[in-house]
Amino acid sequence: MTLDKKTLEELKAKLLKTEKDLEAELKALGEVPEMGSDVEGEVADEETDEAEEYSGNLGVKDALRGRLQNVKSALREMEDGSYGKCKSCGMDIEPEVLNVDPESRLCKMCKAK
Ligand SMILES: [Zn+2]
Repeated sequence: MTLDKKTLEELKAKLLKTEKDLEAELKALGEVPEMGSDVEGEVADEETDEAEEYSGNLGVKDALRGRLQNVKSALREMEDGSYGKCKSCGMDIEPEVLNVDPESRLCKMCKAK
């Protein structure tokens, strides 16, 4: 963990805001937010996928939901202290990457691949 506490707090605030925005957008598209179902998130996702096959907004919703999952994972990792590590190579993600994209799962090098 190379991020200092202040930076981490700022990133967390950004993530919480993004989470709220994404949930509002999904709600506007007719998606019911998964309140407090973080643990069973993957299972719940598959169920909602089937339910909205007939919806015309599938692509948009998928993109939004994918981002929301990333945001939620990032917030969870902040709690357990594993936040800021590249999911591909395991190195610390550059702070400037996190500043632009707090839910980033990859470091600059892996992103560029
Ligand atoms: Zn990497």
